[in-house]
Amino acid sequence: MARAANPVLASHEEPPSAKMFDMADSGKPTRKLCYACGRVATTKEHVPPQCLFPTGYRSQLVTVPSCAEHNNANSKDVEYARGILLSLAQLGPNSKPVFDAMMRSIDRRPHIVSTTFRDLQPIEIEGHQTAAFSVDLPRFDRVITAIARGIHYRAFNEKRRDWDVFCPHFYQSESAASKRDSYDPLREVAAIQKYVYAPSGAPEVFCYGRAGESPARSVYQFVFYDAMIVFAWPYARHGR
Ligand SMILES: [Zn+2]
Repeated sequence: MARAANPVLASHEEPPSAKMFDMADSGKPTRKLCYACGRVATTKEHVPPQCLFPTGYRSQLVTVPSCAEHNNANSKDVEYARGILLSLAQLGPNSKPVFDAMMRSIDRRPHIVSTTFRDLQPIEIEGHQTAAFSVDLPRFDRVITAIARGIHYRAFNEKRRDWDVFCPHFYQSESAASKRDSYDPLREVAAIQKYVYAPSGAPEVFCYGRAGESPARSVYQFVFYDAMIVFAWPYARHGR
């Protein structure tokens, strides 16, 4: 091969980045691009992030090509969102085995609990003792948006930058369940969709359904730990 004449390249089997190229149908190599920004991918991102899966549930995780900036594998935001998801996942009637496995997988548990629930306060609702904490929604939304981008990119090879995220669990309490509030229209829209569920390697940890007539009209329903439901859909910009 021509490059064997080059002493630098000859010392390598292939250029280091060769793995980031695919052979397209035309036979020409095509560069893999980041699922989020479209720059040349240098790594792979798990969708959802691997740390949301306990040890023993990671055999069939999916990945998308990613640049270094959009690889969230170790980001603090993901750790934060994991704490929120796990705290609410305890509500699920079937989620105890996965919850326990997660707790065994997280080796810095005290740190996570203290940063996630910094302002945890006991409160009383209609005579029941419970607890309240505030959720950093922009932070949580960033993590869900990254998951939505990755799943959407994988399904349609289409980059959508902006997503709306809605988590009904954040707007519910025992006493408010029977009252209407400003989030009811969102709940209703999310509830009437006909979701088609994608196969999942670990449905007790994560699965998702998608509804919508076209990629641009997708509505995703993400189910974490068999209990936590979060919806995401592409943010409708003018002219789209
Ligand atoms: Zn990127």
